[in-house]
Amino acid sequence: MSNEDERARQFVDRHFPAVARFLAEPRTIALDTVDHGRVELDEPAWCVGHGLEMGRPVYRHDLTHNSVRVKAGAVTEAHGWVPMLNARISWAPFLELVPVVTLELSVQHDFPAEDVAHVVQGLADCIKRLEQVAAEAIRLRGEVL
Ligand SMILES: [Zn+2]
Repeated sequence: MSNEDERARQFVDRHFPAVARFLAEPRTIALDTVDHGRVELDEPAWCVGHGLEMGRPVYRHDLTHNSVRVKAGAVTEAHGWVPMLNARISWAPFLELVPVVTLELSVQHDFPAEDVAHVVQGLADCIKRLEQVAAEAIRLRGEVL
């Protein structure tokens, strides 16, 4: 665990003890699948839940852990907020060996030339956040391998 992770854990322990207890407890969830019936999964602390997989037919290989979404974009003169990045860590444990980065990166508008500097700043923010998400996904490999 990095120093930054340790400081974050201590912050949560100190200010949100109920959350800290919840995250520390091993969690298991059970979901109904079309092909394997009821399937139990160990739920990693970083997963936000499986609400989208409940109440609809899913196959075991569709079961996917998802992290919170990480977003970035640019504030432009021409279009205001322009979303550019939508990324999260995901892992379908019956399909993938390790967590992966699910990534949507796009921008499509006509911009006045002066506004492109704002887009460039947005791209820089995208790069920084993507590097952080990738580093976290790589760190999480250690928890599943
Ligand atoms: Zn999950």
